[in-house]
Amino acid sequence: MYRSHTNGELRLANVNNEVTLAGWVQKVRDKGFMIWVDLRDRYGITQLIFDEERTPKEIMEQAKSLGREFVIQVKGTVIERQSKNKNIETGEVEILVSQLTILNKSLTPPFTIEDDTDGGEDIRMKYRYLDIRRNPVKDNLIFRHKVTMEVRKYLSEEGFIEVETPYLIKSTPEGARDFVVPSRMNEGQFYALPQSPQTFKQLLMVGGMDKYFQIVKCFRDEDLRADRQPEFTQIDCEMAFIEQEDILTIFEGLTRHLLKEINEVEVAKFPRMLYDDAMRLYGNDKPDIRFGMEFGELNEVAQHKDFKVFNSAELVVGIAVPNGASYTRKEIDKLIDWVRRPQVGALGMVYVKCNDDGTYKSSVDKFYNQDDLAKWAEKTGAKSGDLICILSGETNKVRAQLSALRMELAERLGLRNPKVFAPLWIVDFPLLELDEETGHYHAMHHPFTSPKPGQLELLDSKPGEVKANAYDLVLNGNEIGGGSIRIHDKKTQEIMLRHLGFSDEDAKAQFGFLMDAFEYGAPPHGGLAFGLDRLVSILGGQETIRDFIAFPKNNSGRDVMIDAPAPIDNEQLTELNLKLDLKTN
Ligand code: ASP
Repeated sequence: MYRSHTNGELRLANVNNEVTLAGWVQKVRDKGFMIWVDLRDRYGITQLIFDEERTPKEIMEQAKSLGREFVIQVKGTVIERQSKNKNIETGEVEILVSQLTILNKSLTPPFTIEDDTDGGEDIRMKYRYLDIRRNPVKDNLIFRHKVTMEVRKYLSEEGFIEVETPYLIKSTPEGARDFVVPSRMNEGQFYALPQSPQTFKQLLMVGGMDKYFQIVKCFRDEDLRADRQPEFTQIDCEMAFIEQEDILTIFEGLTRHLLKEINEVEVAKFPRMLYDDAMRLYGNDKPDIRFGMEFGELNEVAQHKDFKVFNSAELVVGIAVPNGASYTRKEIDKLIDWVRRPQVGALGMVYVKCNDDGTYKSSVDKFYNQDDLAKWAEKTGAKSGDLICILSGETNKVRAQLSALRMELAERLGLRNPKVFAPLWIVDFPLLELDEETGHYHAMHHPFTSPKPGQLELLDSKPGEVKANAYDLVLNGNEIGGGSIRIHDKKTQEIMLRHLGFSDEDAKAQFGFLMDAFEYGAPPHGGLAFGLDRLVSILGGQETIRDFIAFPKNNSGRDVMIDAPAPIDNEQLTELNLKLDLKTN
């Protein structure tokens, strides 16, 4: 038996017990005649004591040789500590060691294994196994486990069956590039790793599984944005014989269950917002509604004077910044610089100070009088003491810019409290989205999403206006889940694919299996998927999903610990029929 107890277990009640402990040396304090060692494992820290009077000489010597992160086993007696440590649960006792075995030595770790380590991100990623020994990382992994257990519990109780679907498949378009795997046995052919199990879960519905879920890895070869992982985990779900309402109810239930069990927070019924309203009021389809600062559209009250910038704009829109009227000229100039950064891209910003005495002072006083400005205040909900920030230009761009400003200001004003949870359903997404570069429409969600009843006919005449049976769950300004009611008949699916630019041949080659299945009694069905990594990090009150993944990749998609991706040798390439000679490359 390696140990009788863990290092987080012993209390005053154990005094005089003979125990065996094992773990890592966190710290050695050597006073010569007395040595203390903090012994650590996943469960906590227990103090060991060696002293000249009570500890055999050879053990004393051994203890002096211990270094940080050595793995040891000790036998000894639990005794009451003279000076108690209130900060740790085992702080009232220590172990008087009678036997010490060094199970393994350790090099000096490249960073301290402390909550506040001296190691930067890169070095910690390279030695992630050491990083995992630190409480913050370890606790996050345990937290993630708790969340997934609750997910499994809730969904199982609701009658969902967890079914595994394959990883070596054919492309399932979710809007990203596929990672591909060459097939050795099928020359010149490739598998794709799933961007999601979308088509398989639909086939499970055709197969009569009725309620499916899976906590599953998905793979998307996207240009990496900050805090995106090329492989990530979804809670993937699908149900048959349901309507949108059933899905929203079940998954609102799941989210509420998690908030209650994990965060001990009770939330009221989740509000719902139309996609169009979200865009109009927040410039964004995943609004953070923990705070106000809703957009006020000002075209009507700002395009009647000689101010060309506004007159030529498709949209003039503003937000009221609480108590912003006190900002100095310099502070406002900084805000203007902020919106003009290339990442945001605004050309400039008009502002209005709503003074305490009810008057207004704006950067466009030359063009607008007090009555005009009062109307702007009314439209943006600005009160005395607030600052109105106004952007103008092309609708989509301006909305994105003002949305970025709204989030930035909320962050600065401390309005994004991670302890407050504000979930929200966004419904009635457009079915199609125009790709500005190619001028083609593509599926906003994915090609299997059904249009709202009666909208299919609009596909030809007004493709951009067709609404989908699609919904997203948003939590604190993050999209944590999304899904749709699916197309379940071959004809509609064919029409849809045609509109997405697939030739009949391509459609058949890529999705024939699904459309064939639809001909054998496919039930009406729908579902959604939650992004587990993001969900866990929000529930954990933290920003970065990397911190909740045991072995994450960096921003260039690399695993710096195992050093992947890596070249493979020519022999392997030949075997895979990839006639690529790396030497000449
Ligand atoms: N497969 C979709 C996704 O990964 C989710 C769904 O429609 O259920 O976003």
